[in-house]
Amino acid sequence: MNLVVKKFGGTSVGTLDRIENVANRIIEDLKRGETPIVVVSAMSGETNRLITLAEKLDPTYRGPAYDMLIASGEQVSVALLAIALQKKGIQAQPLLAYQLGIQTDKIYSKARIQKIDGAKLIQYCRDGFVPIVAGFQGVDEDDNITTLGRGGSDTTAVALAASINARDCEIYTDVAAVCTGDPRLIPNAKELYKVSYEEMMEMAGLGSKVLHIRCVEIAAKFGIRIHLRSTFEEREGTWIVPEGEIMENPLVTAVTHDANTFVFTLHPTPEGTSFLAELFQKLAAKNVIVDIITQSQTEKGQRLAFSITKEDVPLARQVLKESLGSSVQVEIMEDMAKISVVGLGMRNHPGVAATFFKTLADGNIPVLLVTTSEIKISAVISNNHLTLAAQKMAQAFSLVNI
Ligand code: ASP
Ligand code: MG
Repeated sequence: MNLVVKKFGGTSVGTLDRIENVANRIIEDLKRGETPIVVVSAMSGETNRLITLAEKLDPTYRGPAYDMLIASGEQVSVALLAIALQKKGIQAQPLLAYQLGIQTDKIYSKARIQKIDGAKLIQYCRDGFVPIVAGFQGVDEDDNITTLGRGGSDTTAVALAASINARDCEIYTDVAAVCTGDPRLIPNAKELYKVSYEEMMEMAGLGSKVLHIRCVEIAAKFGIRIHLRSTFEEREGTWIVPEGEIMENPLVTAVTHDANTFVFTLHPTPEGTSFLAELFQKLAAKNVIVDIITQSQTEKGQRLAFSITKEDVPLARQVLKESLGSSVQVEIMEDMAKISVVGLGMRNHPGVAATFFKTLADGNIPVLLVTTSEIKISAVISNNHLTLAAQKMAQAFSLVNI
């Protein structure tokens, strides 16, 4: 059997017509001799709708009921695609996480996959069924439904591929390729044919919504090549592959952004590190992911600033309210964005930071927080400046078509 895992995202299954289009694509693949294993996301907009419902009742609740609610969108699209295939004479097996033993930990809304019963999946294929699997969901040891974090269907797909030792995993989406920047901000961004796991992980972590970060981590660990491509076009898209497959690394491969950055500033904070240790421990206990942290000395004492994403804001507020004395002032800056440049080439070429900051300076764009790693530089700026910064950055690093 030529097993290929194929994941279709929310826009690919966003309407009944599109679901039929996916069914037709699967039929073409069957004719070509492939044995497809299909993973689907919820119809576009559905997960957001469900999250809004929960938040209206209680913005801080996270637990089995939350995950049960937000996982339900995938159940709908799995069933609809299975019906569409049956109608066209193809035997399809709709599958939820519990049926495949997609076991996760108990960190609701951000669960991690621990194991999958790949043999069961292969058996369905042997019996002549096309398995249609709900992305994004798992089950914990107490049989509660869990979810893998926003965009988590990608992770389901790659984890399934790993569980059956597949070499490739296809991710079908509404864009034709990974680009050097988000085309909504940078209309003349270039398409990338190959991107290394490491760069893609940074890009996903820095706000590129193209692929879920965990999916790239798992792909790197098991050596699965991800082919990201459009549901609506036949041509190839972008391959996410081991670094060794890429001959020459440009200095900067892409500019990415996250427009949902919130910055918390605490001032004045107690001297010494034990305060920091306690605070970040409490945030971690609520599974709040803290991104950039800076500390500075001012005339009126220490100032601490850190950034988190929008999703975690209600939880962070709660922690701060419970743990800070009234002398500490908290300021929350909402309309912030993080802009980053990523590239393996940065490792052995100096000067990227210089160009990065000169570009921001030339655009008169103030920077609030900064962080760097071996292959990326990020700055938190105001959301108003994001488009300008992204376009200027793309030009400065030759990431646009001319
Ligand atoms: N439906 C989920 C979400 O919107 C998972 C996914 O689309 O990958 O985040
Ligand atoms: Mg996605």
